[in-house]
Order: sequence, then C-alpha cells, then structure tokens
Amino acid sequence: MAPLPSIDEALEGILARVRPLAAERVPISAAHARVLAADGTAVVDLPPFRSSAMDGYAVRSADAPGRLRIAGQSAAGRPSEAPLAPGTAIGISTGAVVPDEADAVVPVEIVRVEGDEVVVPAAEAGAHVRTAGSDVRAGAVVVAAGTRLGPPQVAALAAAGRAEVDCVRRPRVAIVPTGTELRAPGDRLAPGEIYESNGLLLRAQVETAGGTVELLPPVGDDRAATRAALERALDADVLVTSGGVSVGPHDLVRETLAELGAEEVFWRVAVKPGKPVAFAVRGSTLVFGLPGNPVSALVGFELFVRPALRALQGVREPRPPFAPAVLASPVRRSEGRDALVRAATRLVDGRLEVEPLRGQESHMIVRAAAADALVLVPRGSGELAAGAQVSYLPI
Ligand code: AMP
Ligand code: MG
Repeated sequence: MAPLPSIDEALEGILARVRPLAAERVPISAAHARVLAADGTAVVDLPPFRSSAMDGYAVRSADAPGRLRIAGQSAAGRPSEAPLAPGTAIGISTGAVVPDEADAVVPVEIVRVEGDEVVVPAAEAGAHVRTAGSDVRAGAVVVAAGTRLGPPQVAALAAAGRAEVDCVRRPRVAIVPTGTELRAPGDRLAPGEIYESNGLLLRAQVETAGGTVELLPPVGDDRAATRAALERALDADVLVTSGGVSVGPHDLVRETLAELGAEEVFWRVAVKPGKPVAFAVRGSTLVFGLPGNPVSALVGFELFVRPALRALQGVREPRPPFAPAVLASPVRRSEGRDALVRAATRLVDGRLEVEPLRGQESHMIVRAAAADALVLVPRGSGELAAGAQVSYLPI
C-alpha cells in the first residue's frame, strides 16, 4: 500500500486546487477581518496639513527667546485667521493647523503667559511641528493586497481617507454534520445518542477564518438523506462534512460525494488525530470530509480547511502559522503519523513552553477545550523529551 500523504503533501494538494474568489467593494466600516484584493492607497496626505504635536504656541523660531504678543488661536478643526506677524505667537492645540509663517511650536509647559503676551524661553526650528504627509503621502500604499484587515489596518485606511476598499468575497461555507446518533443540546438523549457539537465547532472556526456559514441540520447515516443534504450543500464555495468518512458500513459521505460528481483528491493523511480526512473537488467547490471525532474535526479544520479559506481570500501566506516553542514534558511519538498534541502555552523566564494536556484521545473535546496550542510531534518511535524544540499552532 502506498504511504499516506504527509500533512504538507495533503496541504499542497489542497492549495494547488484553490482559485481565489472575486473582489467586491466594501465600505471601510464593514471591512474589519476582510482581505484586501488590491492595495489600499491613501486618498490624502496624512497628516493632511502641517499640524501641531503639542498644546502651546506657534512661533517664528527666530523670535525666541522673547516676549511675543498672542495674536490669535488655532484649535483643532478651527485654524487661526490671523497671520503670524514677526514678534507674535498663535496659541495652538494638538492637531491644529500650524500657521504658514510659523516654524516651531513651543509647549505650553515651558512658557509664561502674562496678559496678552507669552514669554518664550527658546524655540527650535521644526520643533513639535508634524509635516504634511509625514505618516503617508496621498497615493502611497497604506495596506498591501492580500492583507487581512485588523483594527490598526482599518484605522489606517480610514485615516488616509479610504471610504471603500476592494476585498475578496467571503467564502460561502456549508457545514453538514453526519451521524444518526446526533441530538441537539437540550434534547433528551435516547440510549446510544450524543450531543452534536462539531457543527458549532466548525461554524465558529469558519467565522474566525472569514467565511460565511450555512450550518445544515445533522443528517442520519442514511443514503437518501445524506445525498439530499450533500447535493444542496455542494452549491457553496466550500463544503465541510463531519463524520462518515471511515470504513464502517454507515460511513456514506465519500461514496455519496463520488455519486454527486465530486472528485476525490485524497483520503487519509499521516496525521493523528484525523487520519481518515477526505478532500475532493466538484467544479469550483472544495469539499472537506472531516472525521466525526470532535478533536479530529478541530485539528483537521486547522490543518486543512482554514488554510484553504485563507487561500480562497487571497491571503499571502495561507499555510498554518506554526511557531517555535519548548516542550515542557515528554510525549510519546506515533509510529508512521505526525501528531498534533493539545497543549497549553506558558511563559517561563521569557521563553514559551508548551505543556501537553492529559486526555489526548480524539473524542475528548472537553480536554481539548483547555488547549491553546496544537504541538506538532513528528512521527517516530519512543518519546520526544522535555526541553525539545517543537513547533506549535496557536488555536
Ligand atoms: P464517525 O467519523 O462518523 O465514525 O464518528 C466518529 C465519532 O465521532 C463517533 O463517536 C461519533 O459519535 C462522533 N461524532 C460524529 N459526529 C459528531 C458530531 N457532529 N458531534 C459530536 N460527535 C460526533
Ligand atoms: Mg458516524
């Protein structure tokens, strides 16, 4: 039997089949967490005019030291109308227009005001004056294409005058949990039944990855019901199923997908948990068949589905952002499969340690809920020792 693809090989197989979605214009007020389809450029210089960095007095530096007549006030949004004649000063507030003739602002803290005069001990040319365009020039790139807009990026674009930005359309993701045993939380459980949790898990994961979700009700392990649900869900950009991809007689997802014309790219990856994960395409729809065990679904999403959603949105680096850490206690390796071990991060003397949690079986979603990291434990025999350098994926 051919060896199973590694995590990286499976991921490359997925990314090779992703075509970024089209762009749409989005008001800046709705652009948070969206990905820019084109560079976002500045409409205006920022600051748009020479402005004061301090509350104080705008002066001609050549007039200092000296006693200057206060000829007017320049407040934020309300420039002084009086010009700055030699021997005079204009009271000024932070962010207000610095009069053309002034080349310095003297902070209020170092002057003495006497009636309508101000005694200025010193003024250095250029001091406390923000030049126009010192943050960005009109026309220059504020945020590059392929960037997901976080709070500072949204603020930067707004400050530079962008009312709208071109963003990649959000991927539409259909989620279909499968399993006759699944009941909604709050229902009474009959013997053999469990509460459905993967639908909510995957919905939350998709939302944090920038997709919009249609969560279908769980379908039982029945051919007609499975086919009806999957047929409808295949209209989405991405279909994510949970359960029903193993080798049991009630695992109907893969064969139903094949009947519906989806072409399987791979089934099973050398990963623990989540080995029976399937990936298929139908037209432009990407289909992920995640295993039903909740931790397998969680891990499979992070390794394969989230990168695909990032790539669909044109994110420059869609792959999982593994980061280095030190393993706090030993873990057993898995023969033939790379493992993603649920762990908690902590800072010890300024270095990041990852502590594997107890309860690593793939059904233990409650144990996994204490984790903020998935530690990559490369396949092999024996143990990975405490103190080993590892890489981990923040979750
Ligand atoms: P399967 O992959 O269908 O063989 O399911 C593997 C295990 O995961 C079984 O114990 C299922 O009961 C459980 N499971 C499947 N789907 C879900 C779900 N949506 N929520 C919680 N557990 C599930
Ligand atoms: Mg099942």
